Amino acid sequence: RQRRCPRLGSRRDGGDAVIQEHAAPRGRLADDGACAGFRARQDHQLDLVFVVLQRADGGAIAGDEVVPVLNRYLKLFHSHGLPVFSTRDWHPADHCSFQLRGGPWPPHCIAATQGAAFPARLHLPPDTFVISKATAREKDAYSGFDNTELDSLLKSAGAVRVFIGGLATEYCVLNTVKDAMRYHYAVFVLKDVIRAMDISSNHGRALEEMRSLGATPICFEALAA
Ligand code: ZN
Repeated sequence: RQRRCPRLGSRRDGGDAVIQEHAAPRGRLADDGACAGFRARQDHQLDLVFVVLQRADGGAIAGDEVVPVLNRYLKLFHSHGLPVFSTRDWHPADHCSFQLRGGPWPPHCIAATQGAAFPARLHLPPDTFVISKATAREKDAYSGFDNTELDSLLKSAGAVRVFIGGLATEYCVLNTVKDAMRYHYAVFVLKDVIRAMDISSNHGRALEEMRSLGATPICFEALAA
């Protein structure tokens, strides 16, 4: 089946410009009945979900590389009146994921410290919904949906499609995409603004897994065309 890139519409224009074609993601939207339902809801707004984009303490990820392109997406969505949701790790200082507690990671994204701040050059719209995750001492969370309000906020915003980018591909992006599928969103992965911890192998594998689950990889040029 031919894949088509989505077009953005605005909730201000009555919906006529909203998605003429969707990308036929597999799974829930693959059968004709579900597709008809999807088309009938074309006047609903589209939402953009961003995954963690804080400073990567330890320097394992070249997160700065994605910021300029991410800003282009932010500008595009904001100019269409579409809401932006940004998730962030917001850990207690003695979080269970830290190596000093036997976890896999060096201390990072400690709540209310500079380490948990969004990059200064990231131009988040002023009305961005910020979703803090992994806030409990004894529980880690890679997915932006894990123990957060993200799903209910998206549902109340009428979102049927989410566009996900950020860091890191094989952890927070992958798990957020999986949960978004589980919560019945049509999912698009912004493949030019994701980066893996292990670029050599994990990036391609994680992207293929997301694709096999029904998520559609897209890039900025295709979305903005
Ligand atoms: Zn973390």
